[in-house]
Amino acid sequence: MRASQYYLPTLRQAPAEAEIASHRLLLRGGFIRSLAAGVFSFLPLGLRVLRKVEEVIRTEMNRAGAMEVLMPVLHPRELWERTGRWTAFQPCPLRVKDRNEREFCLGPTHEEVVTDLVARDVTSYKQVPLTLYQIQTKFRDEIRPRGGLIRVKEFTMKDAYSFDVDEAGLDRSYLAMYDAYVRIFDRLGLPVQIVEAEAGSMGGHDTREFMVLNESGEDTIFICDTCGYSANAECAVARPPASTSRERTEKPRLVSTPNAKTIDAVCAVLGLPADQLIKTLIYRAGEEFAAVLVRGDRELNDFKLAGFLRAPDLRMATPEEIEQVTGGPVGFSGPIGLPESVRIIADCEIASVTDAVVGANQADAHLVGADPGVDFQVETYTDLREAVHGDPCARCAGTLQAKRAIEVAHVFKLGTKYSAALDAVVDDEHGEQRPLIMGCYGIGVSRIVAAIAEIYHDDNGLVWPAAVAPFQVALLLLDPDREDLRQIAEQITADLEAAGCETILDDRDERAGVKFKDADLIGHPLRIVVGRKTAETGEVELQRRRDGVQAMAKPEEVVAKAGELLA
Ligand SMILES: [Zn+2]
Repeated sequence: MRASQYYLPTLRQAPAEAEIASHRLLLRGGFIRSLAAGVFSFLPLGLRVLRKVEEVIRTEMNRAGAMEVLMPVLHPRELWERTGRWTAFQPCPLRVKDRNEREFCLGPTHEEVVTDLVARDVTSYKQVPLTLYQIQTKFRDEIRPRGGLIRVKEFTMKDAYSFDVDEAGLDRSYLAMYDAYVRIFDRLGLPVQIVEAEAGSMGGHDTREFMVLNESGEDTIFICDTCGYSANAECAVARPPASTSRERTEKPRLVSTPNAKTIDAVCAVLGLPADQLIKTLIYRAGEEFAAVLVRGDRELNDFKLAGFLRAPDLRMATPEEIEQVTGGPVGFSGPIGLPESVRIIADCEIASVTDAVVGANQADAHLVGADPGVDFQVETYTDLREAVHGDPCARCAGTLQAKRAIEVAHVFKLGTKYSAALDAVVDDEHGEQRPLIMGCYGIGVSRIVAAIAEIYHDDNGLVWPAAVAPFQVALLLLDPDREDLRQIAEQITADLEAAGCETILDDRDERAGVKFKDADLIGHPLRIVVGRKTAETGEVELQRRRDGVQAMAKPEEVVAKAGELLA
């Protein structure tokens, strides 16, 4: 390939909106261009990288026994109504109407479509196990796309779905995908941390996320420095302190806290630290109300609360509802004196708080000296708070470290949620009908391109691992007008190509400095220079991008030398 004929629009400066390294470098290197916020074109170089990532994924999926299909982007509303996700899916899918007012969404994920597909043709246990996958464009109506290819509205994803007749079969299918993912990231040169996670909008269990540790990531994960326990922020568990036994002391005493509706304000008025306060949050699920207690210095984790209460319509109570239920305005709720119909659920840490400050359920007042189990009863203590950096590990004596990460893949067991709703049932060996048991396995293909760029770059540009580099070799011809040099460069290019080494010959009419800068910026694993020195010594210079290792070689030795340096 000749650079003089290649669409290679590199930029000296990245646009100001590109905040993270991968976004800046992919724009500058001429890999991608932005059409609108969170919507990107892949230019020839970028597409080469994307296709290589896809090919690694495809090879490993096929090797694991999965079969590739291609399903539609347009999903009819009726299908999503049947699983209840037309309204429940978060973030809300992008929706469109055709000229007959028929509604569709642009698929953010394909559980409905694949289950409907399988339901039509698979009727016997003999037709499973079956794992189908596709590599396709997905749409998410992100409120605030950011980070280049990391959080976008339109992206390429590999999604796979397994169908089995029993749990043991699901376990095997799940493990096959899990192992395939480990191999995929190994081949891509992407170090991943596999963490425990919550399934969120998908539903399911045994959820694992594959995370790339990186400061530009949008996720926080927690890793124990001793036992290796790792989980994402939605489900990371810290060890609570031992609970404290208490005896009845004086009754809690009412204190005036005018206008102190926040933890900070109460601390300021009373001169107490936040861990001496108990935050009382009122939630509503159906007709039921729950008072949820966490220590004043902690944040409630909504995922954990939702997982514990298992109420699909769980939400925070409105100020009017709070007034109705507690008798006091919002900001002054507390667990003492609530109606019996209100459940009191507390984070485990509350069990060791003594002499606490709680809301008095009346305006501008709190109670001090409240003891859980003495002054009010808690229905259940359970882990409800957000973990924080430095928390004690729940599994050992180690400490949890908070780290930023990019989620690049997930695997989880779906069970029968979709097969039951969409009648994907088969006859088992006894002739009885059973819903198929499903697993779901996703990889963010375009996001992986960004993750690799985040991990593999330096001050001069990208440093692609050979497995995904757009070209293996950039051959810089420094004097394209000299016929002798041009001939050498073209012969080397032909030799490399014949040996299966993708090479771009930079024969552009540009200064040497521009060619060197572009080669570094684009990040070809190996650079070969044919210039005046070649005419003098009969040798060309090879330099490896990742560590700067150099070598000289005669033109006829270049293929062997390049092979050594790229190995
Ligand atoms: Zn641990």
